[in-house]
Amino acid sequence: MEKVKIELQDISKSYYSETTVTQALRKISLSFAEHEFVAITGESGSGKSTLLNIIGGMDNFDDGEMFVDGQPTFQYDEQDWEEYRRNKIGYVFQDYSLVGHYTALANVMSALLIMGYEQERAEETAMNYLAQVGLHGFETHRASELSSGQKQRLSIARALAKDTGIIVADEPTGNLDSDTGDQIVSLLRDLSRERLVIMVTHNYDQAEAYVTRKIRLHDGRVVSDVSVNQEASGQDTQTAERETEEAKEKLSEELKKAGSSVRMRSEKEEKKRQNKVAAYFAGMNRRTQRGRAFLFTFFLFVVSTVSFLFIGELFQHADDTLTKEYSTSVFKKEDRERLVVKREDGKEITQEDIEKFNSLSNVVMADSCDYANDINYYMEEGEDYKYIYGIQKGVMGNEIKSVSFLNEKRFMLSTDCIAKEDLAEGRLPETRNEIVLYSADKKDLEKEILFYFQSRNSWGPNEYYCKEMTVVGLLKEETEQVYFSKELCNMLSLGMDYGEYRLYTQYDKWYGDYKLKREYIPVIGDDLEKDEIRISYKNEQTGPLGKVLFHFDACDRNKVRTGETKEQDAVVVEDFHEGTENILEFSEEFFYQYCPKDRGSIQASVYLTSYAKVDSVIRKLERMGYGAQSTYRVGVTDYVEELVNERMTIIGISIFGLVAILLAEVLILRSLMKIRVKDYFVLKFIGMRMHLIRKISYYEILAYCLAAIVVTVIIMWILRIAGVSIIGEMMWYYSFGAYLVFVVYNFVVSVLTVASFNHLLKGRLNA
Ligand code: ADP
Repeated sequence: MEKVKIELQDISKSYYSETTVTQALRKISLSFAEHEFVAITGESGSGKSTLLNIIGGMDNFDDGEMFVDGQPTFQYDEQDWEEYRRNKIGYVFQDYSLVGHYTALANVMSALLIMGYEQERAEETAMNYLAQVGLHGFETHRASELSSGQKQRLSIARALAKDTGIIVADEPTGNLDSDTGDQIVSLLRDLSRERLVIMVTHNYDQAEAYVTRKIRLHDGRVVSDVSVNQEASGQDTQTAERETEEAKEKLSEELKKAGSSVRMRSEKEEKKRQNKVAAYFAGMNRRTQRGRAFLFTFFLFVVSTVSFLFIGELFQHADDTLTKEYSTSVFKKEDRERLVVKREDGKEITQEDIEKFNSLSNVVMADSCDYANDINYYMEEGEDYKYIYGIQKGVMGNEIKSVSFLNEKRFMLSTDCIAKEDLAEGRLPETRNEIVLYSADKKDLEKEILFYFQSRNSWGPNEYYCKEMTVVGLLKEETEQVYFSKELCNMLSLGMDYGEYRLYTQYDKWYGDYKLKREYIPVIGDDLEKDEIRISYKNEQTGPLGKVLFHFDACDRNKVRTGETKEQDAVVVEDFHEGTENILEFSEEFFYQYCPKDRGSIQASVYLTSYAKVDSVIRKLERMGYGAQSTYRVGVTDYVEELVNERMTIIGISIFGLVAILLAEVLILRSLMKIRVKDYFVLKFIGMRMHLIRKISYYEILAYCLAAIVVTVIIMWILRIAGVSIIGEMMWYYSFGAYLVFVVYNFVVSVLTVASFNHLLKGRLNA
């Protein structure tokens, strides 16, 4: 007696619509045993498909009971039915239900992978099944490219691959010509020697020669159930048996091996394997549908590019400093990229310090003469300055010039900011009155140029110093900037933190004291000697030439007087020099008595590649033991309403934009993904668990998302290097944090899209 596999007891099934009730099955009782090849026939609408669907676990029933291997199914939940479909039933359908864009091999492999096979073994086993149904040589053909008969063979190979005891076939020959149909029925007959095959057909004539049992339905009832061909089935199976014996032996060996490997896996290994399976299917989608892969990636690329720009804008406008007005009262030079840096010990900036600053990333240059960086220089008459009343002759034969300064945009930089390699000609400045600048004309070397200097914030608004400078070197790169010797820079900024220089004049014998005590700005007069000094002729109150008393009050670095004073007789040699009346010229010897020659600046200027790097460089400097501040931030005062509004608008638009593209991706990409629903339906139908199907979409879309992110970043870098200024400026704000936000944003949006698609998919697949 053959083993009963499926038994139906009084099964009834009705379909309900708003207006009608259709009773598709009425109290069907049937039992099916191993090795049967059953044909279910009957006219259209008699209930054949409904019956098959119930046996296949794809449809439920209203009444009665179905036993599987002797066990009742009344307590089965959705998961049990899923397992039943996966483990007990192989399906063959009229429309083949193949994944058209997968290869024949991949279609069969998918069933094996779902069952837990390792990839390599799945491939080998799938090859054997394909050979068994006569598709040897067609492994790498796409399913959609096969003939109808081959498609049905392929779907049978896939059903076989599941190695189930039951195969249900719904009109498997419905789309085939009669010869091909015959071959398929014959193939099913062969398979029934090892399992139970139940086939619905409305073309019984074709099946007649092969089936072992014929069940006829009419109006939802069994009207006949007869055994046929019993002897025939035994006869010609023998040939088939011989033909496939070898293949089968091999196959069962394979299955044993594969089966043991399926069971032995730990939970962790199984999870790993499932991830691999999901990645395999995602890769298959990518490889077999390159057009779609490109479409998805392109869409994600658009999203990532737009989000890159919006996120860049947000980072760029995170700091509200840029919406404030700059006041030149502290740092005359308005420069967003400048930091002032001091040593923690308050000592002078050394060459070593400058080298350390220069070695930092995002530092363009460092100048130890920070104070001089706020001193204006004027060199071109007519451009930088002009003489208001022309040049007139003074009483003493001197020239009287009333200078008016036109362009206050030029500020001193010292030779710290350049190196020998930057010169095309000549050498770096060595003494006070030497400079280098850019000129294409070599004749400019050795040229003498008259310079005016102005240090508004420390000398007062009207003072200036004037001196002729010699060009000793020409720069390679074109620039407006002139570089001065450190000696000159330090000399001009001396008054700022070292002490107060006074001259006591007009000695009153009666009182025994000087009538006039006045503060001056000390500079060196090249031709003066020893105790000689020179003040401007304009200074009418100085009195006659001759002996005066020089008085010095020392200050500390914070301009607080230390109490240390020095006095010395001095001789005014001539009451005239260029520059304004508060400029006091000393002989070099005299000057350096009050200020050691090797004394440098205690504060350096460090220039950055971009304002975006201010915070990170300050942090780095602080870690290195320096104190640093942005001169721009120190200088800003009140908000400028217009700039504040502009900033708020940009932030608003960027946030809105990021939300909008999130929604756009979820809606648009999700609907593009709907073209996959059919494929996933097939995968589910051959037993793939929902969570694995969900994973495939994650793997696939996140891979495209990663590709889109990489392409976006590469393109942005190319644009930056190509000199697209908006991108270049924004890229400075792309620190690690900004890239992180960008990457996380894109992945989150993609994850949300896939989650939303999977939600939709669940609804579709369960419907
Ligand atoms: P057959 O496969 O023999 O053509 P079916 O099993 O498909 O018959 O259908 C049996 C009866 O149930 C028919 O009257 C059919 O119209 C009805 N039926 C089948 N499926 C549905 C359904 N999903 N909703 C409503 N009625 C259905």
